[in-house]
This record gives sequence, structure tokens and C-alpha cells, in this order.
Amino acid sequence: MLVEGPVSALKISGVVGIREKEVAFHLVHIEKTLKQAGGRLVFIPAACKSCGFLFAERRCRSKPGKCPQCRSTYIGEPLFAARMTR
Ligand SMILES: [Zn+2]
Repeated sequence: MLVEGPVSALKISGVVGIREKEVAFHLVHIEKTLKQAGGRLVFIPAACKSCGFLFAERRCRSKPGKCPQCRSTYIGEPLFAARMTR
């Protein structure tokens, strides 16, 4: 699923049937599986949809509440994608 394109934690939780909070835990295992398959897990940070502010340093895998730059609550979700390196 991750190889097909970037997905949000919410979407993963829906597909796999686990709670959004538990996705981060499962991603650790997904990451290990990907490494064995010759790929890696890429984290795409959440971004403000109003001003484009990137929540790059925010590694916590949940959706931020609001933008510290423009205070917009229109925030894109952080996404995860698989990249095959061989
Ligand atoms: Zn903003």
C-alpha cells in the first residue's frame, strides 16, 4: 500500500484496522520490513495549506493543531511513503 503512494496515518489506520495512535507503533515494524525488502520509509511532514509552513521538525506522527506562522487550522496531514532503493 505504501509503495503505491504517500498515505496518511489516518488512512493506514483505516486500511489496517487499527487506531490512528497505534499507527506510529506499527510503522516501526513496517520500516524494518521495508529495509529487508531493500526499501525505506519516507516521512513527509505536515504542511500548512494556507502559507505553506512545513512542520519539518515535528517528528511526532500526529496532525498538528494549527500553524505557528499564520495560525491557520487548515493543516495537511503528515504522510508516509515507501521508497525502494534497489
Ligand atoms: Zn500557515
